[in-house]
Amino acid sequence: MRFSRLYAPTLKEAPRDAEVVSHKLLSRAGYIRQLTSGIYTFLPLGLRALNNVADVVREEMNRAGAQELLLPMVQPGDLWKETGRWTLYGRELLRFTDRKDADFCLGPTHEEVITDLVRGEVRSYRQLPLNLYQIQTKFRDEIRPRFGLMRCREFVMKDAYSFDRDDEGAQESYQTMFDAYVRIFRRLGLRFKSVEADSGAIGGSHSHEFMVTAATGEDVVAACTACEYAANLEKAQAVCSLSQCDETCAEPERVETPGAHTVAEVARMMDVPPSKVVKTLLFEVDGASVAALVRGDRDLEEIKLKNALNAQDARMADADKVKAWSGAPVGFAGPVGLKVDRIVADVELCGDTGWVVGANEADAHLKNVDLPRDVGVTEWLDLRQVVEGDACPRCRTKMTLARGIEVGHVFKLGEKYSKAMEATYLDENGKEKLLVMGCYGIGVSRIVASAIEQNHDDAGIIFPPAIAPFEAAVISLGGKDPAVDEKAAELHDQLESLGIETLWDDRDERPGVKFKDADLMGMPFQLIVGGKGLARGVVEAKDRRTGEKSELPLDGFAEALHAYRREVWTGWGLSPDGELG
Ligand code: ATP
Ligand code: MG
Repeated sequence: MRFSRLYAPTLKEAPRDAEVVSHKLLSRAGYIRQLTSGIYTFLPLGLRALNNVADVVREEMNRAGAQELLLPMVQPGDLWKETGRWTLYGRELLRFTDRKDADFCLGPTHEEVITDLVRGEVRSYRQLPLNLYQIQTKFRDEIRPRFGLMRCREFVMKDAYSFDRDDEGAQESYQTMFDAYVRIFRRLGLRFKSVEADSGAIGGSHSHEFMVTAATGEDVVAACTACEYAANLEKAQAVCSLSQCDETCAEPERVETPGAHTVAEVARMMDVPPSKVVKTLLFEVDGASVAALVRGDRDLEEIKLKNALNAQDARMADADKVKAWSGAPVGFAGPVGLKVDRIVADVELCGDTGWVVGANEADAHLKNVDLPRDVGVTEWLDLRQVVEGDACPRCRTKMTLARGIEVGHVFKLGEKYSKAMEATYLDENGKEKLLVMGCYGIGVSRIVASAIEQNHDDAGIIFPPAIAPFEAAVISLGGKDPAVDEKAAELHDQLESLGIETLWDDRDERPGVKFKDADLMGMPFQLIVGGKGLARGVVEAKDRRTGEKSELPLDGFAEALHAYRREVWTGWGLSPDGELG
């Protein structure tokens, strides 16, 4: 491809709302343009990168025995009503009506549609197992679209759905997908971790996320420094070796705490460490009022609370509810005398007594509170977020926390959807049974951004070779010398004929401009064709990742190029044949 013909409008400045490096660089290098909040156009370079990711995903899905199809993006509301998700799936589901006033939505995921398809047509155990997937545009009306391609409203996902006869089969399908994902993310040149995860709005019993490690990740992963345990913070188990405290403390006593709002301020005023203060957090859980207690120096994990209570929906109570339940403004709720349906406490609170808690009135706290005695707490649950240095739930060694970007998610769904939608098959004995399902997502467009979050420098993008829109850039420094351009054109054609997609910068620009654009766009290697080198019978090659320069002889060029290319890929831990090293 000639640069002079490429539609790649580069920008000097990144868009003002671009917070993360991938958003800045994808915009500046002419890969994407925002149409409106969370909705992007893929320009030719962006689409090439996107398609490259999709190609690897497709190859590995096919290798794993899955079959590609394409489901509609517009989905009838009636299907979502069958599973109850028409109301349960929050406002991320973009709902609308057609001219006949029938309910529809834009697909954020496709469990309903695929289950509807299969329930009509899969009848016998002989047709199982089955794994169907698609690579398609999804729409989720995200509350906070941001970070460019990382959190969009419209984005490209690969979603696969497996159907098995029983749990054993479903486990095998899950493992097959898990292994395929490892191959996919390795081939794409990403540094990633698979972690135990919460199942979220998709539901189901068991899931793993694939996290690309990057400081800008929206997720936090807790990982053991010794064993294999790694989990999303939403799921990571906090171990508590404390047993229930059998000491007694003095009777509760009210203390004025004027102007003290934060745990730190209260602790200072009461002359206790923050770990002696109990935070009382109020939630509406499936319509009931719930108070959740955690130590003052800890953070409650809402997802863990929701799961521990086996709830469909858990949300922080608004100011009016806080007032109604506690009789006090926000910030002073305490468990003693609180009017709620249920009080649950983080398990860590069982090991001590003599707590400082809110007094359910402004500017006052209670001290000497014993939770079983004064509040009747009986439910001790794992509610707090794990912190750096916490013991691993498997081997008790220390865990560390790191940020990650979720690029893939595998779920065991079990019979959740087949039961709701009556998707059954007949077994060997002619007995009707529910299909056992799994579902498997990959954020195809998010991967393009994640690769940049992991691989960039001040000059621009450093794309892993399997993702780069062009693998090579040929830069001709001909000036007025037509022989140089001729040679560059020849090299370009030669590379292309070897199956190496190449962008030839044939523009009448200064060398500095060409070098800058090649670095910005991030092609894995550059071939620099200049008069002086040609006179010596060489072209210069630059590895974008290391910045190292070498010379390739024109005599025996094909061989030298082959070896050089292999070296570039090997530097990424990859091989140009698509096989894993
Ligand atoms: P997140 O927690 O980041 O919102 P999710 O758990 O909602 O993700 P899934 O429903 O598992 O995501 O979707 C499968 C994959 O699609 C995710 O692993 C992620 O890579 C990608 N994805 C999800 N939401 C978005 C989005 N808003 N923009 C881009 N990619 C997304
Ligand atoms: Mg989401």
